[in-house]
Amino acid sequence: MVNKYIPTSTHEALDILSKHDCYILAGGSDLMVVKKNVAGALPKFDKDVLYVSHIEEMKGIYKDEKGLHIKAGTTMDEVEHSELVPTLLRKAVSELASTNIRHFATLVGNIANASPAGDTIVVDVVLDAVLKLESVEGERFVKAEDFVLGVRKIDRKPNELITEIIFPEVDYNGELWFKVGSRKADSISKVMMAGIYKICRKTLENFALVFGSVSIKPVRSHELENELKGMSFDDVLKNKKYIVEEYAKLIKPIDDQRSTAEYRLTVAKNMIGKFIDQIVKGDK
Ligand SMILES: Cc1cc2nc3c(=O)[nH]c(=O)nc-3n(C[C@H](O)[C@H](O)[C@H](O)COP(=O)(O)OP(=O)(O)OC[C@H]3O[C@@H](n4cnc5c(N)ncnc54)[C@H](O)[C@@H]3O)c2cc1C
Repeated sequence: MVNKYIPTSTHEALDILSKHDCYILAGGSDLMVVKKNVAGALPKFDKDVLYVSHIEEMKGIYKDEKGLHIKAGTTMDEVEHSELVPTLLRKAVSELASTNIRHFATLVGNIANASPAGDTIVVDVVLDAVLKLESVEGERFVKAEDFVLGVRKIDRKPNELITEIIFPEVDYNGELWFKVGSRKADSISKVMMAGIYKICRKTLENFALVFGSVSIKPVRSHELENELKGMSFDDVLKNKKYIVEEYAKLIKPIDDQRSTAEYRLTVAKNMIGKFIDQIVKGDK
C-alpha cells in the first residue's frame, strides 16, 4: 500500500520529504511511463508519491540580479512562450515531445529524469544553469553540469526538492540548436547539440558546446572551449579538422533501439563542422 501526498505549499512538501521516502511527481510524463502497468491498469508505484505540480508557489519565471529563475513547477509550454527565456532554450523546448505533453511536462522534470536523451539538459549545461535544491535542512545550489551523474542518476538527497533552475547572464551573440530524431515532431533525440559563441571583430571571444545522447551524460569540454576562445576566424577555420576530431574523442555513443553508435558519431561530427561554418560566416 502506497500513500499519495498533495501538499499545498513548498514548506509542506519539504516536511513530507523529511519524513517519507517518496517519488516526486511533477508532470508525470516520465515517471508514469517508468511505472506503467499492463494496459488498462493503474501505474505500479512501489513507494509513496508526492505531487508537486499544483503548488502555486512552485510556478513562475522571473529575473533578478542572479539571472533568470524558472521555478520547478513551470511547464515546457510556459517556458516556450516566455519572452524572458533565452531563445536557445525556447527552440529546444519547442521541439520536445508534442504540444499536449509540453502543457504538463516541466523543465525541471527533464533534468531530474537524467535521461541521456533529455533535450533541455544540454541547453541547461551550455548556459551554465544552476539547480536550487531545498530541504528542511536548508538550501544548496548545484551546477546543471555536475547535477547529472549518469543515466537516471542525479545529485539529489532523498529529502531534497528541486525548487528552481537558475540561468545566469552569459555573454554570447550567436547560438545553435541541433536535434536529430526519427521525425520532425514528437521524437526522442538520437543526437542533439547546443552551442553558443560571441564573435567580435572576427575573433571568437566566447564559445561553449554541449552534446547529448552520445554518452551517459552531457558532453562538454572546458579545456577545448578555452583553447578556442580568443582564436581568429582564420585560425578556427584552419583548425576545423582538429576541433572536430578532438570533440569526436569525447563522444562515446552506444547502439540502441533508436540508432547506432556509428550513425551518432557521424552526425555529431557533422554538427560540429556545421557549427564552425556558421561561426566563421558570421551568422547568428
Ligand atoms: C510521448 C513522450 C514524448 C517525449 N518526448 C521527449 C523529447 O522529445 N525530449 C525529451 O527530452 N523528453 C521527452 N519526453 C520525456 C518527458 O516529457 C520530459 O523529460 C519531461 O520534461 C519530464 O517532466 P515531468 O514534469 O513530466 O517529469 P515527471 O515525470 O513528473 O518526473 C521526472 C523525474 O523528475 C523528478 N522530479 C520532477 N520534479 C522534481 C522536483 N521538483 N524535484 C526533484 N525531482 C523532481 C521525478 O521524481 C522523476 O524522477 C517525452 C515523454 C513522452 C511520454
